[in-house]
Amino acid sequence: MFIELDGWHAKLRFSACHLIPDHPKCGRLHGHTYAVSVRIEGSQAGQFIIDFEDVKRIVMGVCDRLDHRILLAMDDPRLKITKDDGYYTVELIKSCKHYVLPADDVKLLPIPSVSAEDLCKYFLNEISTAIRNNGFADNITNLHVRVDEGIGQGAGCNISLA
Ligand SMILES: [Zn+2]
Repeated sequence: MFIELDGWHAKLRFSACHLIPDHPKCGRLHGHTYAVSVRIEGSQAGQFIIDFEDVKRIVMGVCDRLDHRILLAMDDPRLKITKDDGYYTVELIKSCKHYVLPADDVKLLPIPSVSAEDLCKYFLNEISTAIRNNGFADNITNLHVRVDEGIGQGAGCNISLA
């Protein structure tokens, strides 16, 4: 058995700015509205597999940390990121251009790129950790996460929690 939350309809959404270095179009700073959908498989513990409200709170907690930020991938070898006096300087090594961004506007992520795929892995890790830390995991066997970058395109991944 499973429960599902659709990020668009359940309002598990955030808007953010990113770039994909060296991509002909996506190499320029631009934004998306993202939606995070989850499917949680397991057996019922009492009436629920897990309370929808608990799932929403966990997912929105992660979304809120990224919402209306410029997302930067800390582990992207195509970027050189330095911080000085409240600003990040982001150099795109191959294209010889750089951005200077207010540190408060930036969210650094421990991922190799801000693609839908790598964002999805980030959300999977954050959500599965939160599920385990909140003691929900005993009856839950699998967690699936999908991150949509706009309507109609997204990336999915899953992890076993059994
Ligand atoms: Zn994009």
